[in-house]
Amino acid sequence: MFNNLSDRITASLKGLRGHGRLTEADVDKTIREIRRALLDADVAVSVVREFTGRVRERALGEEVSKALNPAQQVVKIVHSELVEVLGGATGELSWAKHPPTVIMLAGLQGAGKTTLAGKLATWMKGQGHTPLLVAADLQRPNAVGQLQIVGERAGVPVFAPEPGNGVGNPVLVAMNGVSTAQFQQHDVVIVDTAGRLGIDEEMMQQAREIRDAVNPHETLFVVDAMIGQDAARVAEAFRDGVGFTGVVLSKLDGDARGGAALSITGVTERPILFASTGESLDDFERFHPDRMANRILD
Ligand code: GDP
Repeated sequence: MFNNLSDRITASLKGLRGHGRLTEADVDKTIREIRRALLDADVAVSVVREFTGRVRERALGEEVSKALNPAQQVVKIVHSELVEVLGGATGELSWAKHPPTVIMLAGLQGAGKTTLAGKLATWMKGQGHTPLLVAADLQRPNAVGQLQIVGERAGVPVFAPEPGNGVGNPVLVAMNGVSTAQFQQHDVVIVDTAGRLGIDEEMMQQAREIRDAVNPHETLFVVDAMIGQDAARVAEAFRDGVGFTGVVLSKLDGDARGGAALSITGVTERPILFASTGESLDDFERFHPDRMANRILD
């Protein structure tokens, strides 16, 4: 009947209103409903198990038995546990002591990396930074052209492969891009890399080579939120294959259920730093776990 997580959790908790105290059976009824809602929202099973275990334990504990309104207290617990699963505090990008800060983007093809590069650059430019975009995705036909268009729209220069600076070799392009940023005094350089449609050793190898060549301060793993709990499996593969310091959830506008967001941090223990919420350059925001928890609950 309900097709999203927030409605389901809210409805299951509404059933508790009016009770003076919660019995173990009340709590278990709610927990079952929350578990079902999370699974329907495509949250990874391991995350669901841990989440409901923690909520159950707290719901049976003193903070609820002493509460004037136990149902409201359970809502609070679910909210705080959601914030926890989503990473706790809002994550921050780390900046290099000696610029440029090097940010490498990694993720599957179609995840939204090139679009994100433009959004991130626009956001940084708005904060007074001077980004340079580097087109090191030489896999996808026209990925370079797409980044150039994005750069033009964002008013941010793009370092693209040309004869003499690494045509056909993404590692050289990335290295030359970073040296150019140094030389031209850009304080941040965003390196777009190639993805594949699926997890692929060759892609991981290339990303590792680029990583080792440019030594990024941040490697951001970009993942399509619409793939739901599969985001956790892809994230694990990138964590083991390349390693990353933060996550960007793209296409959050198309994911009403929150499955990817809830699945990913529990599995990777890396913060979700940004969310991409549409195709335009401004459809971009910092990711705040508490706001996402509100969105899921309300
Ligand atoms: P890449 O292969 O990882 O570089 O992915 P792209 O940046 O080319 O994005 C793939 C497709 O997803 C493009 O058609 C983008 O316009 C679209 N896209 C990227 N980010 C978002 C987003 O946040 N929301 C929506 N709705 N579409 C997006």
